[in-house]
Amino acid sequence: MTKAASLLSSCVLAKPTVGGCAWCGTVLAGRRRKWCSEKCASTFWKNHWWTLARRAAKVRDKYRCRLCGNAPPKRPNRRVLTTEKAFKEAMRVWRAGRKKIRLEVNHREPCRGQHGTISCAHHLENLETLCAVCHREHTASIPRTKTMRDLVGP
Ligand SMILES: [Zn+2]
Ligand SMILES: [Zn+2]
Ligand SMILES: [Zn+2]
Repeated sequence: MTKAASLLSSCVLAKPTVGGCAWCGTVLAGRRRKWCSEKCASTFWKNHWWTLARRAAKVRDKYRCRLCGNAPPKRPNRRVLTTEKAFKEAMRVWRAGRKKIRLEVNHREPCRGQHGTISCAHHLENLETLCAVCHREHTASIPRTKTMRDLVGP
């Protein structure tokens, strides 16, 4: 059994059926083998693979910190900045602003070092976008019974 298959068999979000879609259980049509649609495949990965889950969480939270609402500035749009000079200046401001407000994605239920593996710890409902400042405060507020290793991961 692959890692994904064993996850699917225990995942609370999956509703697999025998011979049906591994995610939603819909009867598979045509040459489909595992997923009934691209959407089901991508929903599975977005909820289990950290790289994709992290991005999906930021999209869902509209690139804002859930606690303080801060958002990094939007990347300058080259088309509206007609001169090279204006564009360069806008990029400089953007880079500086982005350094100040960095968005990170927090696991509400600490993921215990599972960033590198596919895991149900990355369910979107367990993720929230926080700015680096709020993330640090949040992490510091977690009771010390949990070790640093749990919080930081590998
Ligand atoms: Zn499906
Ligand atoms: Zn914040
Ligand atoms: Zn899961």
